[in-house]
Amino acid sequence: MSASPTAPIVDLDAITARLEGYNPDALPVALAQEIMLQAVQPVQAIESVAIRGALDRILAADVLSPIDVPAHDNSAMDGYALRGADLAADGSATLRLVGTVMAGQAEAPEVAAGQCVRIMTGAMMPAGLDTVVPQELVTVGADSVQIPPGQKTGQHRRHRGEDLRAGSAALPAGKRLSPADIGLAASLGLAELPVVRRIRVAFFSSGDELRSIGEPLGKGQVYDSNRYTIHGMLQRLGADVIDMGVIPDQPEALEQAVRLASTNADAIISSGGVSVGEADFTREIMHRLGDVRFWTIAMRPGRPMAFGRIGAAWYFGLPGNPVAVMVTFYFFARLALRALAGATPQADPLVRAASTTEIRKRVGRTEYQRGCLQIDRDGRSTVTLTGSQGSGVLRSMSQANCMIVLHHDQGTVAAGDPVDCLPFEGLI
Ligand code: AMP
Ligand code: MG
Repeated sequence: MSASPTAPIVDLDAITARLEGYNPDALPVALAQEIMLQAVQPVQAIESVAIRGALDRILAADVLSPIDVPAHDNSAMDGYALRGADLAADGSATLRLVGTVMAGQAEAPEVAAGQCVRIMTGAMMPAGLDTVVPQELVTVGADSVQIPPGQKTGQHRRHRGEDLRAGSAALPAGKRLSPADIGLAASLGLAELPVVRRIRVAFFSSGDELRSIGEPLGKGQVYDSNRYTIHGMLQRLGADVIDMGVIPDQPEALEQAVRLASTNADAIISSGGVSVGEADFTREIMHRLGDVRFWTIAMRPGRPMAFGRIGAAWYFGLPGNPVAVMVTFYFFARLALRALAGATPQADPLVRAASTTEIRKRVGRTEYQRGCLQIDRDGRSTVTLTGSQGSGVLRSMSQANCMIVLHHDQGTVAAGDPVDCLPFEGLI
């Protein structure tokens, strides 16, 4: 195996030797995830992009605020700014009105004791003033303003630097940049952000029975759908993709595809060809080209899976069944590819919901069911299985809005019991 000069040397044997309970033929999900996260190191190349183009990219370095945000004390309301010291014990006062300060106005009038100014939201607080009374509360006379009781010194004033102090960390390296992050960078006056270069992922489907869209479907043949789900999931991850098509079950074709992919991509994803009946020639080729482990994962769906290194690329050999492909992608490839792309590892945000039916489950493996998460009339979160849960039934996935995660040590779930769900879509 020839690793590229920049690729870190990763010894899968050393990683697995350190893990208690490592058994390649019955590997718990958590251990397989752990092995991948220990093995995969983030790509090092960084590029600078205009902030609008930085959405969903991974921040490559901490961003420190160059300024205080807000840059000056300012009013949080349209109203009247005054000195708290001028308020009577009950919070009332009658003050002389000496001017107005608008947002963006650089010079504020001088305001003496016993005086106040009209002030707009975001306008700089004049020197010495510390309190704002909303305009709808006051009574304005010819040149005076009557402040009703109940006001508190310091109210409705935003402090300089209360959002961010100059020099403090505004955004941490490894963060996937959201619209809020882009706005935050803009509020600091930053035009560009350093991001990790996009990862390149090559993928192919393997199987003699597969036909591509546009080809006629013969007897015993199926359309290749995995390349499309994988393409979609990779797009969501922000990867650059290299679609290598369908590779027939022939050793030479597979070897050629894997060799080519390993010189062009940071990661290779295949689907099909790793199940027990088919793994033999795949195994032989992968062992020759790199350092790849073939595992049986204690999970359902998606038991057979391969992971390892081929040249400078990470290899994920996913099973062939369409649902198993999505599940193994979400719970293994996605985690590892995010780490490869430089993102700080994060636990998936699971939501608890009451199952509307019994769900049979075997202790000692992780099961992923497709579910529909809903809020019922009483505001309770409930989840219902979507149709047939067979690992080839993509419709159950299409109808679902979440994965129900039934953990390794969990047994059968009774109707009404809470289960963990991973929603597919969040507010982003
Ligand atoms: P395998 O893991 O190659 O034995 O495939 C398991 C099942 O998944 C078989 O029924 C295959 O026909 C099906 N399958 C494999 N690859 C694909 C694909 N790319 N698109 C749709 N179905 C597939
Ligand atoms: Mg096959």
